[in-house]
Amino acid sequence: MTTFRNIFIMSIAIIGFSFKQQAQETKTEEKDKFKYLTEQFGDAKILRYQVTGFDALNLNQKKLVYYLSQAALCGRDVIYDQNYRFNLLIRKTLEGIYQDYSGDRTGEDFKKFEVYLKRVWFSNGIHHHYSTEKFLPEFSMDYLKTLIKGTKPESLPLSKGQNVENFISEISPLIFSPDVAPKRVSLDDSKDLVFSSASNFYEGVTQAEVEKYYENLRAAARKEKKDTLISFGLNSKVVKKNGKVTEQVYKVGGLYGKAIEKIVFWLEKALPIAETPEQHASIEKLIEFYRTGSLVSWDEYNIAWVKDQTALVDFVSGFMEVYGDPMAMKGSWESIVNFKDVEATKRTVILSENAQYFEDNSPVAPEYRKKKVKGVTAKVIITAQLGGESDPTTPIGINLPNANWIRKEHGSKSVTMDNITYAYDQASQGNGFLEEFAASQQEIDRVKTYGHLAGNLTTDLHECLGHGSGQLKSGVSADALKNYHSSIEESRADLFALYYIMDPIMIKLGLFSDEKVAQAEYDNYIRNGMMTQLVRIQPGKTIEQAHMRDRALISHWIYEKGKDKNIIEKVTSAGKTSFRVNDYAGMRRLVGELLREIQRITSEGDYDAAKTLVETYAVQVDQPLHKEVLERYRKLNIAPYAGFINPNYSLIMNGNTIADVRIEYPDDFAKQMLHYSKNFSFLPAR
Ligand code: ZN
Repeated sequence: MTTFRNIFIMSIAIIGFSFKQQAQETKTEEKDKFKYLTEQFGDAKILRYQVTGFDALNLNQKKLVYYLSQAALCGRDVIYDQNYRFNLLIRKTLEGIYQDYSGDRTGEDFKKFEVYLKRVWFSNGIHHHYSTEKFLPEFSMDYLKTLIKGTKPESLPLSKGQNVENFISEISPLIFSPDVAPKRVSLDDSKDLVFSSASNFYEGVTQAEVEKYYENLRAAARKEKKDTLISFGLNSKVVKKNGKVTEQVYKVGGLYGKAIEKIVFWLEKALPIAETPEQHASIEKLIEFYRTGSLVSWDEYNIAWVKDQTALVDFVSGFMEVYGDPMAMKGSWESIVNFKDVEATKRTVILSENAQYFEDNSPVAPEYRKKKVKGVTAKVIITAQLGGESDPTTPIGINLPNANWIRKEHGSKSVTMDNITYAYDQASQGNGFLEEFAASQQEIDRVKTYGHLAGNLTTDLHECLGHGSGQLKSGVSADALKNYHSSIEESRADLFALYYIMDPIMIKLGLFSDEKVAQAEYDNYIRNGMMTQLVRIQPGKTIEQAHMRDRALISHWIYEKGKDKNIIEKVTSAGKTSFRVNDYAGMRRLVGELLREIQRITSEGDYDAAKTLVETYAVQVDQPLHKEVLERYRKLNIAPYAGFINPNYSLIMNGNTIADVRIEYPDDFAKQMLHYSKNFSFLPAR
C-alpha cells in the first residue's frame, strides 16, 4: 500500500512572500477585498478560500458542484470516528454544552473551553491533526463538571438510563487523562503499533493478529487465483468476535452505513447530470462501491475515475489515504470537490507531455526507471468543497489513485489546488516570518519575487512526475519499507522535484525564464528542512510526520554531505542562526545522488537502508537550535497550522426547477462547524 499525497503546505503556509505572478494579477483587485484570515486559536488559524470562476460555470456544472458538496459533507462523522472511537461522543458533548450551557459564558474558563472545542473541530477529534498527539484542555476537570451540570441533560449524549454523575465520570478521563489514548498514530516500532495507536481501525486485536489476518487473506486469494492486487483492508475495521479476528466493512448496511447512505443519496442526484459518459461511469462505480463495500468495485471506480479526463467538474470521495493507520492499510474518509482552472493547467500540461524525458534523464539507476511513463496527467484546480479528512485542514495537491498497479496500467490524476495556495499566500503577507529566518536580504527578495511560482512548480513536479516515477524490482512488495514507507516515498517525490526545478529544461520549456526561481526553491527548502518546520514540534519531541521527516532527511543529508565543500553554510549572527546555500549546482548534484539511493531503496525494498537513513537524518531534533527557533517564532505570533471555512452553496428555485446555485462565503468557523453538526451528522455518539 502506498500513499501519494503531498501535504506540502508547510513550505507555503509559513512563508511570507508576496505574489507577483503576472497571470494572476488581473484578478487580484476583487480578491484584495476578500478576508482570508478570520481568526487564530491555539496553534491554528482559520482561513477562507475563494471559488474563483464558480459563477462562470454553466447551470449543470453548478448543480454538480452542489450535489457533490453535499455528499462531501455527509461523511464528516466518519472521520471523527475513524480517528478515535470516542471522538463523536466528545464532540457531541462539547457542542451540547456550547449551545446550551446556561451559566457564565464570558469568563476566562469559558473562553478556554471554546478554544478546546475549536481545536477538536479543527483536528476532527481530540488528537492534534498533524502530530497526532492528544491535546489537553486548559480548563480544569472541575470546570467541565460545572459546564455539564449547567447544561440540559437532553442536550448531552447520555446513554440510556445514564445519570449525569455517571456521564461525567465516563467522559472526564477521555478528555483529561494524558494516559488514555495519548497518540492517534504511533510509529514507534518497538511497541505494538496497533495497541499503541488510538485510531479506530482495530479493536481488541494485536499487530501480529492483524498481520496474520491479511497474510491469510492474500494467501487465500493467491490460491483461488483471485485478485491479489486489491487494497486489502482499505475500508474496514478489524475486530475480534467470539475470539475470531474479523472485518467490519464500511458500506451501506455495514459500519458507517447511515452516513454512507446519505453520501449515496447525493451521488445519485449527481449521476444523471454527469458531464461526460466517463464521469457517469465513475460515479456509478463509486455508488456500487459504497453499496457493496467491494474492493474490486473500488478498483473499478478508480480506473473509471482516471479515465474521466475531460469533465470540468471533478471530485474525489472515499477511503483514501492511509497515514491515519500505523499499519498503512486503512483509508481515512475524505472528499474534495473541484473544477479545472483551464488557464493555469497549461503549466502542468507541459510537464505531463514531457514525462518520459524526465524519467529517462533522471539520475536514478536505469533498471529502476520506468521504461514507459504512462498516463501522467495533471491539472490545476479550483477547490469548491473540502470534506472528511481534508476539512478543515487540506492538502494543496492530490495524486490519486493510490494503488500502484492502477497507476502503472491506467495512470493517475494529479492536481494542485491553486485557490488554496493563493489563500495561504495572501494570509501570510507581511507576517515577518521570511524576514526572521532568511540568511540574507538577497534571499528575501528572491523568495518574495519567485517563491510562489517556485512552490507551485515544485508541487507540480512532486505530484505529476515524482510519485509516478521509478519502478520496483520484480518480486519486491510495495509495502516492504513498512513504517518507513511514507517518509521515503515523500522524499523520493521531493527529490525528483528538486532535481528538475534546477534543470535547464525548465527554462527551455518556458516554465520560467530566470534561474532565480529554482534558487528561491532551494533556499526555501533548506530553510524549512533545517529550521523552520521545527516550529511544529513541541520541545523535546522528535519528528514523526512523513512529510516533515522527508524534508528533514533531505536537508540534513545534503548539509552533512556538502559540509567539506561548504555547499550549505550555517551562519550565526547576533545569536540568530540561518542556513545559506552557497553552491546551488553542488546542492543539485547531492539531490541527484540521494534520489538515486532512495529510488534504489524503494525499488529493492531495502528496509534496513531506509531505516538507517530516516533514523539518522529525519527523526532527531537539534535541541539548542530547536529552542532558538521556537523563541524567535513565538515573538512573531503566527499560528503554524491553517484550516479553512468552506463556502456555502444553496439552490435558487424557480417553482420546482433549480434556477441557479448561490455561493456564499461565511466567515465564522464555529457557526460553520455547528451547522455541519446539525445538518450532516448521521452517526450515533456511541
Ligand atoms: Zn507526496
